[in-house]
Amino acid sequence: MTLQAFLSRRVVTPEGIRPAAILVDGEQIEAVVPADQVPEGARIQDFGDAAILPGLVDSHLHINDPGRAEWEGFETATRAAAAGGYTMLVDMPLSCLPATSNVAALEAKRDAARGRCRVDWAAWGSVVADNQRDVEKLAGAGVRGFKCFLIHPGIDGFTMVTEPELRAALPHVARTGLPLLVHAELAGPIETATASLANADWKSYVTYLRSRPDEAELSAIRLLLSLCREYRCRLHIVHLATWQALDELRAARAEGLAVSVETCPHYLHFSAEEIADGATLCKCAPPIRSRENRERLWQGLRDGVIDLVATDHSPCPPSMKQLETGNLKTAWGGIASLSVALPVMWTDASRRGFTLRDIARWMAEGPAELAGFSARKGRIAAGCDADLVVFEPETEFTVTPERLHYRHAVSAYMGEKLRGVVKATYLRGKRVFAEGSFPGDPIGREYRS
Ligand SMILES: [Zn+2]
Repeated sequence: MTLQAFLSRRVVTPEGIRPAAILVDGEQIEAVVPADQVPEGARIQDFGDAAILPGLVDSHLHINDPGRAEWEGFETATRAAAAGGYTMLVDMPLSCLPATSNVAALEAKRDAARGRCRVDWAAWGSVVADNQRDVEKLAGAGVRGFKCFLIHPGIDGFTMVTEPELRAALPHVARTGLPLLVHAELAGPIETATASLANADWKSYVTYLRSRPDEAELSAIRLLLSLCREYRCRLHIVHLATWQALDELRAARAEGLAVSVETCPHYLHFSAEEIADGATLCKCAPPIRSRENRERLWQGLRDGVIDLVATDHSPCPPSMKQLETGNLKTAWGGIASLSVALPVMWTDASRRGFTLRDIARWMAEGPAELAGFSARKGRIAAGCDADLVVFEPETEFTVTPERLHYRHAVSAYMGEKLRGVVKATYLRGKRVFAEGSFPGDPIGREYRS
């Protein structure tokens, strides 16, 4: 196999951003060396001023396949991922049918994925009301951790867990050593708030925001931290939307609890003040909160209390967004962003003084660590898979339907001018995206440790 050498003046490594040559032997990175130390005979590709980032890892998205492939699907999601600079996806267990709550369902997902993926993938299992006995079997079969909901997930085929049901599962989860990922909102504060809004205008974004108060997240996180302390399991808070939990999360970590935290591009980009009434494209749960809240989430990233940024790419058929009526009570909640998450984050992060090194930490290293494959994914380093993204940080573009590549070209970001263009994506040394096209056969496969 010919040695490949990827050169750039801005290679984003864990040690920093520097001019370098990435030497790739077959599917893996052999070494990262100064550009003048490329061995003779290597096939050189010099990307000049374009940066080379590690392939991004999305630890939170909904592929909806099998069972709801008309919402998304492995072909379209992995295509959008490649175009967006992602080379590894970890699929949530709830939006496919059957939900990934036992080994047979995991096998059904593997069947659906076979031969159809343009990037690598892995699966989260679940903790639902009645699958406590399946938890360890799922771990043995290869899931990377377990997702659960403390509130109704808003989708058929997946059940929430009550505290007693969760307690019954936690000893099993703890034994696997895998993380428990939790949608942290409790129903109580939401039901109270929603009851008081019975006659409110549900086209108004303020109404929707009021219906899901910070308190729902805060009370859930408090419960989870106490369970984490009691059962000594790994805990991961998905899509943190309120800054108000940051101090308690920081304190939990200082105490030695194994807690990690994620937020999403939409919480860091949009703010409630700017969302128009009837803008169902911006509906998600927990909701996008105030401008001040957004800035404090950025501070949480700066301080390291928030470890990572995942997309929570959660698409649906356009009709479910109810764009004509703009009813924020009944429209599907979920924001699709897989192909534009990197430029969204870079646009907002660079404006706040962050670097591509921060982006790589939040969007590649952090998620890889959560899902337990940091030895192979998420870094440009010897021994890792040669998953690389060629990225032009200074080039601007406007979000148009042609740039989205997922099943339904619907986006909360449509028409926005963003900074940073993905020129090419390499998966294990092979080009899977370049200048708007997807060369070659789908070579993505499930990550198996
Ligand atoms: Zn989600």
